[in-house]
Amino acid sequence: MEIPNQPIMVTRPLLPDLSSVNCQLKDVWDSKWITNNGPKSKELLQELKNYLSVKHFSLFNNGTLALILGLKALKLEGEVITTPFTFPATVEALDWNGLTPVFCDIDTETLNIDANKIESLITDRTSAILGVHVFGNPCNVNKIQQIADKYNLKVIYDGAHVFGTYLNGKPIGEHGDMTMFSFHATKLFNTIEGGALTFKNEILNERLDLLKNFGIDKPDTVELSGLNAKLNEVQAAMGLEVLKIVTDEKKKRYRIKELYELLLGEIPGIRILTKHKEEQSSYQYFVIEVDEEEYGISRNELHEKLKEFNVYTRKYFYPLCSDFKWYKNFPSAQKENLPVANKKVNQVLAMPFYGDLTNEEVEQICSIIKYLSKGSR
Ligand SMILES: *Cc1c(COP(=O)(O)O)cnc(C)c1O
Repeated sequence: MEIPNQPIMVTRPLLPDLSSVNCQLKDVWDSKWITNNGPKSKELLQELKNYLSVKHFSLFNNGTLALILGLKALKLEGEVITTPFTFPATVEALDWNGLTPVFCDIDTETLNIDANKIESLITDRTSAILGVHVFGNPCNVNKIQQIADKYNLKVIYDGAHVFGTYLNGKPIGEHGDMTMFSFHATKLFNTIEGGALTFKNEILNERLDLLKNFGIDKPDTVELSGLNAKLNEVQAAMGLEVLKIVTDEKKKRYRIKELYELLLGEIPGIRILTKHKEEQSSYQYFVIEVDEEEYGISRNELHEKLKEFNVYTRKYFYPLCSDFKWYKNFPSAQKENLPVANKKVNQVLAMPFYGDLTNEEVEQICSIIKYLSKGSR
């Protein structure tokens, strides 16, 4: 078995050719307009609307502020039913709006919010459901919408993992009232830092423009209490170039995913969580689940052992949000109410995954995982 002589990291940002970025930056320098809805961010807005086939779309300087201000624009109150198995930003966005998260257990297959367990958590204080399309696997959007319609709730999705994906023949952002995208360096499409919202109700456009710019309407009017969350021209310039290479990157990742599936598929105790098909994914992550009994060692042990072999994986997401110290006493955060989430959080591992990963490296990683399994000892 060959051990990689260079460390293999879990991800690598998608970087366009530097000279092409320089050309974009030259325009920005020439215009002397470096932020506040300049020409590059207007161009990026249009390009992304086309790429994602969405009507209503707004850009932000990161995904977290997009979500915070999106929730604010929807004027939600009280409680929001959400998942404990997500990145901290999802639930922190609720905190910043004075909203109380109510944690719902997750589905065993997709690791998304379990739509069958939402209804029992609804109270007269519930105003919305906040789902996350975890690792690119879509939530049960139909069932969630049915529940929302029945109880008059808003539906918001954290779509940080589903850039450019389709579901039931529709762009994924068309499901629910609002979807957030993240353009952070580690995501498939990046503007270094950045984010966006797509939404159903056109009225929100104006409100979001105010919210991301201190609530300033005209030079002499401050309409509401906002924040500063504008995407700047350098971010937009980067985005315009990254967008040109995203499709190619997806193709490369598709091939890597197929090789991983082939080589890991036969190892007992390893289940692949991201078996997306051609059109259906952003191919942002390749994630496995480790069954300790069948595989022989735990997810944590595998994560540690792989480091010794120069392979860096990530426990994504770990820990559960319901275990954060400011939530852990909430009734909905109790372990007995979240059995699936509490089991899965100790089994999931994100593998190195990016377009420039070579076949040889994937083969090395997989043979190490095989070597560490019970069957090989
Ligand atoms: C990356 C990510 C975020 C945060 O987005 P930023 O653009 O980094 O603020 C939120 N939710 C999920 C699920 C993410 O993966």
